[in-house]
Amino acid sequence: MMLPSPRTRYAVIGNPIAHSKSPWIHARFAEQTGEPITYEAILAPVDGFAAQVEAFFASGGGGLNVTVPFKLQAFELARANLSPRARAAGAVNTLWMQDGALHGCNTDGVGLLNDLRRLGARLAGARVLVAGAGGAARGILLPLIEAGCASIDIANRTPSRAQELAAAFSASAGAVMRGGSYADLPADGHWDLVINATASSLDDEAPPLPAGAYAPGGLAYDLMYAARPTAFMRQAAADGAAAVADGLGMLVEQAAESFFIWRGVRPDPGPVLTALRTSL
Ligand code: NAP
Repeated sequence: MMLPSPRTRYAVIGNPIAHSKSPWIHARFAEQTGEPITYEAILAPVDGFAAQVEAFFASGGGGLNVTVPFKLQAFELARANLSPRARAAGAVNTLWMQDGALHGCNTDGVGLLNDLRRLGARLAGARVLVAGAGGAARGILLPLIEAGCASIDIANRTPSRAQELAAAFSASAGAVMRGGSYADLPADGHWDLVINATASSLDDEAPPLPAGAYAPGGLAYDLMYAARPTAFMRQAAADGAAAVADGLGMLVEQAAESFFIWRGVRPDPGPVLTALRTSL
C-alpha cells in the first residue's frame, strides 16, 4: 500500500499553457477524493524546461504533467527511471520524485484505452487504423497491441514515419503491423476502429482516408477535442461510422491515471468528463 505523499503541490508545465484544462480537472479530482493537493499551470520558457522542473521539485513539488513541446525533454530527464509505458511511447507526460530520483511515465495511451472501453469498443481481435505517426500515435500503439488488436495499419502524410513506427513495434506485437501512406491503404479497409492521431483537426481538415473505411459497428476516435464535431468526426459520420468520439475523455482519463500514480487514489473520471463537456 502506498503511503500518502507529504508533497501536495502539483502542476502542468508547457508552452503555451493558458489553454490547459488540467488544473480544472485535477481540482475536481481533489474535491472528489479529499486529497489535499494544489495544482497550477506553469509556463516554461522554450529553452528553460529542465531548470523549471528542477526548481519545482527542489521547492517540494509532488508531481508534474508535461505537455507540448516538452514531452521528449521530460523523457530525457527521467531516463534513469522510466515506466514501460514511457519507454514504449518515447515520451513522458507524468513526472514525480521517488526515493530522491525523478521518475517518468506516459499515461496518454492508457487514457485512450480507458476511454475506448467507456465507449464500449471491443479491442480484442479488432482491425485498427491509426492516422498519423507523431508523438501521440507512438504513445497509443503499445496499449492497443496489449489490448489484443488483430492488426494495426498506420498511415501518415510522411510515409517513412509510419513505416518506422510499424517496424519499431512489430517485433513485440501480437498484432500485424503495417505502415505507409494514405494512398497505400486498401480502398475498402473495413476497420473496426479508426483513430485520428494527426494534428489536422487543428486546421479543420480531415486526413485523406479512403471511402468505405468503417466495418459495421466501426468507431471513429479523434484524439483532438472541440466544442463541435471535428472535420475527422464529420468525415467519419458521412462515411458510415457507427459511432464517433473526440479525445476529451482521453484527456480526463490520462489525468486520472497521473493522479493515481501520484496519490495512490483513483478518481472517478465520469462526472468530471460530463462537467467538462458541458463547459466547452
Ligand atoms: P505531432 O507529434 O506534432 O504529430 C503530428 C502528426 O500529424 C504527424 O503525423 C503529422 O504528419 C500529422 N499532420 C499534421 N498536420 C496534418 C495535416 N494537415 N494532414 C495530415 N496529417 C497532418 O503531434 P502529436 O503530439 O502526435 O499530437 C497529435 C494530435 O493528438 C494533436 O491534435 C493533439 O492535440 C492530440 N492529442 C490529444 C491528447 C488527449 O489527451 N486527448 C493527448 C495527446 C495528443 P507528418 O509526420 O507528415 O508531419
